[in-house]
Amino acid sequence: MEIKEKHLVTTLPLMEDFYTIQGEGFYQGSAAYFIRLGGCDVGCVWCDVKESWDVNAHPSVSVDVMMERAKTSGTEIVVITGGEPAMHDLTALTQTLKANGMRTHIETSGVYPLTGQWDWVCFSPKKFKEPHPSVFVQADELKVIVYNKSDFAWAAEFAAVVRPDCQLYLQPEWSKEKEMLPLIIDYVKANPQWQVSLQVHKYMNIP
Ligand code: SF4
Repeated sequence: MEIKEKHLVTTLPLMEDFYTIQGEGFYQGSAAYFIRLGGCDVGCVWCDVKESWDVNAHPSVSVDVMMERAKTSGTEIVVITGGEPAMHDLTALTQTLKANGMRTHIETSGVYPLTGQWDWVCFSPKKFKEPHPSVFVQADELKVIVYNKSDFAWAAEFAAVVRPDCQLYLQPEWSKEKEMLPLIIDYVKANPQWQVSLQVHKYMNIP
């Protein structure tokens, strides 16, 4: 039987890339280069990057160009986000970044099995589409966006299936912050394995 060599995906739809401060989760406060890929079929009603959803609305950019732009920033942390970046084959992108001394971080809803090599996986499940179980053991960080009270019980279900060393974060959805933050504070005090994550980049008025 003929075995075909796997064709590496060396161009990806790029919505935007920028150098900023990671505002959320474990690396909050660290300088990081963000690469936001186009395409998402998860459909969160409160999504604040709906313009990312249409994969065809974004130009195809080579992974070498993305790497060169990230490299000029001077940070070693490169965060691949979206959209849902895991809908693409990220093998070539992560290979290229790592070969050039950069750390590869991903922000994913977990609905697709991960491709590529990752130094940090932030798994942020969404109620609108079931995550793929393979992501549970790969998650270094579980970040649950709290939009209503029922999300605490839902978050606990994921905390039970990720690795014991996975960092657990509860983050209020931005438009519900006033309402949900007091509940999150009470929940974290009662369940100290969790931590509060706030979108501090929004307070700093940076992307
Ligand atoms: Fe938006 Fe992310 Fe949800 Fe996709 S997974 S709809 S990009 S919030």
